[in-house]
Amino acid sequence: MASCDMCGRQGDLVTAEVERVEMKVCPNCARFGMIKRKADAAPLLQKKLHKEPAFRVTANYAAVLRQAREKQKLSQEDFARFLQEKESIVAKWEQGRMQPSVEVARQLEKILGVSLVMEDIEQSFEKDKNAKSDGFTLGDFMKVRKKV
Ligand SMILES: [Zn+2]
Repeated sequence: MASCDMCGRQGDLVTAEVERVEMKVCPNCARFGMIKRKADAAPLLQKKLHKEPAFRVTANYAAVLRQAREKQKLSQEDFARFLQEKESIVAKWEQGRMQPSVEVARQLEKILGVSLVMEDIEQSFEKDKNAKSDGFTLGDFMKVRKKV
């Protein structure tokens, strides 16, 4: 019986593409890669299936958080209490020295009614294109706002 290229487990195997390498893997390991669809699948579709949509915290999270706090007229200490976070962490967020995780950012979005998470389109679909700088323009900001 054949064994999985990734974990060595024996059993039914599927052909999966992992990190662009074709492998024979068990269904469990196939979750980490893209199970090969029919050979005639459109290349664009394959590209989209290659990765789950990725999300990232917006580059201007520090300013967004600071502005949200100033709008509420809260001190950093009170803001931290309001968010149920450590003051030192909130301070680092506002200084842009520490980025909240996507999960935390989603919670902050709900609490504050701001936009902090965006789909990482480059990572999801445009990996081949030259990496764009992380600069966050006003145009980007408007795009994010529109999605809400
Ligand atoms: Zn496996």
